[in-house]
Amino acid sequence: MERNFYFFNPNTMSFEKAKLSFWGFIKRIVWVGATAISFAILVLWIAFYVFDSPREKMLQRENNELKEQLNIISERLDVMSLTLEDIQDRDDQVYRTIFEADPIPFEKRNPWFNLRTRYDSIPMNETLKLLKNIDIKTSTLLFKLNEERISLDTLLQLAERKSDMMASIPAIRPIKNMYNVTSGFGMRIHPILKTRQPHRGVDITAPKGTPVYATADGVVSYKQAPSGYGLSVIVDHGYSYETLYAHLSKKIVKSGQKVKRGELIGYVGNTGFSVGAHLHYEVWKNNIPVNPVNFFLSEITPEEYNSILESSKIVNQALSF
Ligand SMILES: [Zn+2]
Repeated sequence: MERNFYFFNPNTMSFEKAKLSFWGFIKRIVWVGATAISFAILVLWIAFYVFDSPREKMLQRENNELKEQLNIISERLDVMSLTLEDIQDRDDQVYRTIFEADPIPFEKRNPWFNLRTRYDSIPMNETLKLLKNIDIKTSTLLFKLNEERISLDTLLQLAERKSDMMASIPAIRPIKNMYNVTSGFGMRIHPILKTRQPHRGVDITAPKGTPVYATADGVVSYKQAPSGYGLSVIVDHGYSYETLYAHLSKKIVKSGQKVKRGELIGYVGNTGFSVGAHLHYEVWKNNIPVNPVNFFLSEITPEEYNSILESSKIVNQALSF
């Protein structure tokens, strides 16, 4: 097959017939086709990569908004983290100090090092980095919050035990107006036996019938006071504390009965080996008698304390055992 093609010859200034072979014709077709396809590819590339479609534009907008939201969440998490750190500081510096608890170890409160590895194998873009940060922050916050909850539970238990213990330590005066401590703690001359003997408590003179109060929470003991103590009450306060109130004219509590600090337990008298109405008051700690004057500290003024301490040093004026 042969087709006629013409070309313009500038020398003759006329169109001349050109002969084109079959393969020449095919080559030309292929060349035109390849050019057209290349051009189409170029147009498509521009359409895809240079200009966004409306759908792409919408997704881009959504994406930007999401990123913005993620940034806001991330900032809020920072604020929450700071607030929690403040609570942790108070926990360590104040609450744990008050209740004599050990501080929480650093690694228990800071799980960062374990969490960092979770995203390490994923290739990161900006959004993923943001998500990774948020994930680390929320996980850390959850971990720390849980640790803080456990810590506060422990402190609550300590606080309950502490307040229970504080209520069980003798801390008030067994008689409301007890300025007249006539015999102190320690060695003194016994009023009846007239020999030097250890005095295991303090003697407080008061008119017969003056109310006597339990000095801490406890249970009235089944133990009996030694002979010579007259009508007596022993209160077991737990935490290795006991108190004893002797020479009463009347007691109004029974063995096994629970008493509160400040509760009336009896009245001053002169029963047993005693030479006048007074209360003999003892405080025992770990089965050893200790000076009761040291346990009045919480409710007397420094002047009262000095006065009681001075008069309690007078060893010759004992009224009883
Ligand atoms: Zn005494």
